[in-house]
Amino acid sequence: MNDIQHWIDGKVVASTSGRTGPVFNPATGDQTGQVALASVDEVDAAVAAAKAAASGWRATSLSKRAEVMFRMRELVDANRKEIASLLTAEHGKVLSDAMGEVARGLENIEFACGVPHLLKGEFSEQASSGVDVYSIRQPLGVVAGITPFNFPAMVPMWMFANALACGNTFVLKPSEKDPSVSLFLAELLAQAGLPAGCFNVVQGDKVAVDRLLEHPDIAAVSFVGSTPIARHIYETGTANGKRVQALGGAKNHMLVLADADLDMAADAAIGAAYGSAGERCMAISVVLASESIADDLVAKIADRIPGVRVGAGNAPDSEMGPLITAEHRDRVAGYIEGAPAEGATVVVDGRRSDGDPGFFVDPSLIDHVRPGMACYENEIFGPVLSVVRVHGYEDGVAMINANPWANGTAIFTRDGGAAREFQFDIEVGMVGINVPIPVPVSYYSFGGWKASLFGDTHMYGPEGINFYTRGKVVTSRWPDPSTSKVDLGFPETR
Ligand code: NAD
Repeated sequence: MNDIQHWIDGKVVASTSGRTGPVFNPATGDQTGQVALASVDEVDAAVAAAKAAASGWRATSLSKRAEVMFRMRELVDANRKEIASLLTAEHGKVLSDAMGEVARGLENIEFACGVPHLLKGEFSEQASSGVDVYSIRQPLGVVAGITPFNFPAMVPMWMFANALACGNTFVLKPSEKDPSVSLFLAELLAQAGLPAGCFNVVQGDKVAVDRLLEHPDIAAVSFVGSTPIARHIYETGTANGKRVQALGGAKNHMLVLADADLDMAADAAIGAAYGSAGERCMAISVVLASESIADDLVAKIADRIPGVRVGAGNAPDSEMGPLITAEHRDRVAGYIEGAPAEGATVVVDGRRSDGDPGFFVDPSLIDHVRPGMACYENEIFGPVLSVVRVHGYEDGVAMINANPWANGTAIFTRDGGAAREFQFDIEVGMVGINVPIPVPVSYYSFGGWKASLFGDTHMYGPEGINFYTRGKVVTSRWPDPSTSKVDLGFPETR
């Protein structure tokens, strides 16, 4: 049984809180480990280590900070398989998907390698006679990251790469459901030359999170998780004077117009709905099918479902793994069970009745779904795709814009004009045009609108650099002492 502890001040620190949580292999249902759940004192120790390291790290030259990121880039690259197998063991996602997670996380470290360029300020010579004005961006100090179970490596990399490169020190509170990879990343950062105390991991639950939110030495909090917790994080963190970006849940719609290539749309729907067992905040969970092609599209999706190979994440031919916990499996199954009574049609029922102890639900498809039904109104976060039939473009756009979540969306069409209109009309943060999972590359920024993001700044990329720094403007004069005189007037530039 793995004993998963904290990482504080450059080393593993055994918890003394007396509280632990179980960690499972979701493919077998077996408990494989237990994770420490931090006490307030343990959180305070991690923050104290980060605070002690902050002034030295902030004073470290940009080139040296970039060098650490370059080394980290090499180490993550060299350890892709090791990281992926840790992800599979505790999250359950299949190895190819875990490798994809590592690759997309790595992009953020590569972006952070460019920090000397990213932190260049502006300079205005002769803003007034003999006066120059320039802007600089400085780190915030100690910042915290609180991350979800579904991307235990990539989401921390979204945060710590830019935060550290900008000269902050970091306290990570990973999901207690798949915590091991956070310690592996901490070791790699140490090997990359990051000084002790700059990166810390406190394992834990609400106790740790709430302490981070109120700790006076935490300057900013980045959060990714479900909408109710994101709202709590944003409200509590900002009430305590912190800068907060809190990314929440999602209900992502894919609008398929009548002119779309239906085979391409069906292939895309399968990948985007069932990849990672639907446990992606950018998963497609609703297909909005134009009425004239809806029967064909549903048939094409249903035909493809038996071809999806479901199995343990470490089995070489598996394409889709289990869900994260038994409770989550049962919750997901509940949406399939309840759908017919609300008037929907279950076309493919992925609930298992064979008593398999793994946390599996097979790919499922529900047709004739309408707003108001439980499977439409809630984030299922499982391999369940709903099909809602719409009259066409206007009807589909109105439905997407009426949804409280607004993380990602996609349109499938051959009509460039319609796609252009969609991009203009749609009230969603990340948009795909014939691309079902439009996760921005690391040199753009990631974030939804509405109930999918609380705060003003999207995550990673240029907005991440802004989030982890604050601006300062310097007005400077080097006068000839012989010209000095007393002047009580307000400074003018002309
Ligand atoms: P979650 O909200 O349950 O947990 C996220 C983090 O918050 C974890 O570290 C957890 O320990 C902590 N937490 C949980 N309950 C808490 C409480 N009551 N008080 C304080 N902290 C608490 O989310 P999850 O189940 O780990 O992840 C899945 C959710 O994350 C889905 O809703 C998914 O859409 C969302 N998600 C969003 C994005 C995005 O970019 N918008 C990305 C990935 C996942």
